[in-house]
Amino acid sequence: MSSKSFGKSGKGLRTSPTELHVYLNGEFVPKREAKISVFDHGLLYGDGAFEGIRAYNCLVFKLEEHLTRLGESAHSIMLRVPLSSEELTEAIVETLKRNRLRDSYIRVVVTRGEGDLGLDPRLCEKPNIFIITDKIILYPESFYRNGMDIITVPTVRNIPEAINPALKSLNYLNNILAKLEASNSNYKEALMLNDAGYVAECTGDNIFMVKNGILQTPPTYVGVLRGITRQAIMDLALRNDIPCQERVLTRHDLFNADEVFLTGTAAEVVPVVKVDGRKIGTGKPGKMTRKLMSAFRDLTKRDGIRYTF
Ligand code: PMP
Repeated sequence: MSSKSFGKSGKGLRTSPTELHVYLNGEFVPKREAKISVFDHGLLYGDGAFEGIRAYNCLVFKLEEHLTRLGESAHSIMLRVPLSSEELTEAIVETLKRNRLRDSYIRVVVTRGEGDLGLDPRLCEKPNIFIITDKIILYPESFYRNGMDIITVPTVRNIPEAINPALKSLNYLNNILAKLEASNSNYKEALMLNDAGYVAECTGDNIFMVKNGILQTPPTYVGVLRGITRQAIMDLALRNDIPCQERVLTRHDLFNADEVFLTGTAAEVVPVVKVDGRKIGTGKPGKMTRKLMSAFRDLTKRDGIRYTF
């Protein structure tokens, strides 16, 4: 896929912004002034939807896919996104330009808006929308070089019949509980199983394994987020003649895999060399993982919506 251009001039930009600006309901406001009501149901109940997106060297990566997922999350919870896809694209690009960011993590959030202290979303008249563009460093560089260790935690992933993990809602307590359990044992990331005990995903990343040259990842019906990075990796596998399967996986499968890695917008592709104390493969990032890491980095250099400032 080739890159598309967006926005020619940086008109109206401050030359050296001293403070990060946030897009909030149609305005660009300094970070300190970017505030919403304590009566917003996004805050009171986690009622809202969001996306995490990346820009690499003035290319917004997989923007269309992220906006589609945001639209689907919002549709599922009957939340109106106040901007069209084109308006959202423009607002995202403008926020990046205002902050003079070539490389960035972009957070788009739509909340239910201000209501009363009851749950009823119909009493919230107007959704709030904001866009934060900033830097993110999720994992240290050594994880990408040497791999990371993960641990399975007791908190199971939300069951799809309750809060479907496919829905990227503001209600992240399920993931936060898992993250706490991992942190309590000094791990940076937690492996979450579904209620049947099958491998689901990590708190903020999807999971892949490689066995006998075959790339495998849990199917989305086990209850995982339909990761955009996950899909990008599956597409890259197809293009590189790497066989790839969506397969229900157990911890036993992971323990005995040749390679394991995680994918996510913030994490990108990160090798895993130990799961619950079991060494994976050689205990070093594997060949296919390194190949896909490099193919993914190449993709981020050429695929996306281009902007200039
Ligand atoms: N799973 C969960 C629970 C996530 O929050 C995320 C995003 N951080 C992912 C997987 C990865 O999805 P994506 O590649 O779309 O960022």
